[in-house]
Amino acid sequence: MAALPRLTFCLTIGLDALSLWVTSFKSTNASMISRGEMDITGTHRVLELMDRYGIKSTFLVPGHTALAYPDLIRRIVDQGHELAYHGWMHEDARDFDVAGQRLVIERGLEALDHVAGVRPRGHVAPAWNMSEHTMDLVEEFGFDFDGSRMSTDFMPVYVRKGDRWPTDGAFQFGELTDVVGIPVAWPMDDVPIFEFVWGEISGLAPASAAEEMWTGEFDYAYKHCPGGVFNLTVHPQVIGRGPRLEMLERLIGRASEAGDVVFQRQSDYVDAWRALNPRGEWRSRNPELAGDGSIAALPSMVD
Ligand SMILES: [Zn+2]
Repeated sequence: MAALPRLTFCLTIGLDALSLWVTSFKSTNASMISRGEMDITGTHRVLELMDRYGIKSTFLVPGHTALAYPDLIRRIVDQGHELAYHGWMHEDARDFDVAGQRLVIERGLEALDHVAGVRPRGHVAPAWNMSEHTMDLVEEFGFDFDGSRMSTDFMPVYVRKGDRWPTDGAFQFGELTDVVGIPVAWPMDDVPIFEFVWGEISGLAPASAAEEMWTGEFDYAYKHCPGGVFNLTVHPQVIGRGPRLEMLERLIGRASEAGDVVFQRQSDYVDAWRALNPRGEWRSRNPELAGDGSIAALPSMVD
């Protein structure tokens, strides 16, 4: 069985478009909402860049985006990129009960099927917001992998469902699922460092600041996490501005020259990683991440 490359670079593209402003930022400001339309220009630029480097990637597409720009979504699929589920309207799962979350997932999936005939293998929670029930639904809908959690930096995990976190007792670890978790992190996302939203995020750092942060993360992962995944999430409406895109190209160039780094869609990496890391073996090597060995209550709390 082939070993994993030294490092896999997943250039993950969040195509939140208008839904980010309508839902996540709850805007009624037509100017603010129009920022989502920059995803059109940005996506053309990002696709052109990926094409030049032969990169295939994973696009996170809310159903709302698919209905707004069906031709763009079909072009992305035609170029060999994959779509991952990313909400119906970029919702926060915590705003819904289980039945409501189920309806959101059904609508998001229906939109991707209606527009592109795609049933995504991956689930990525909008803005990485998850409720205590989200993982039950990820498993119920048969997703292969999830890219919404931050329990590691560069190594995948098998994800637990049913965790509970009472505020008056020990953390209750749930059951290990077969869903592979691809790690994410805010320092590996372009929104907080670049995007400016009055009273919410200050952003507006120069491209050089993100370049310093991302090359630092890349160099560490390359040196210390063999077989890992460098999962960088960028949004065409953010990264598509000139100096930022040129900075991203320098990072891609650095990765390309490092040796034994491959650019892959998340599903391709998940298949290769899963084949080399059967769940039982992974569990015995990672008891804490599996939720094994914890203490559920103090003796004085049990009678
Ligand atoms: Zn998003």
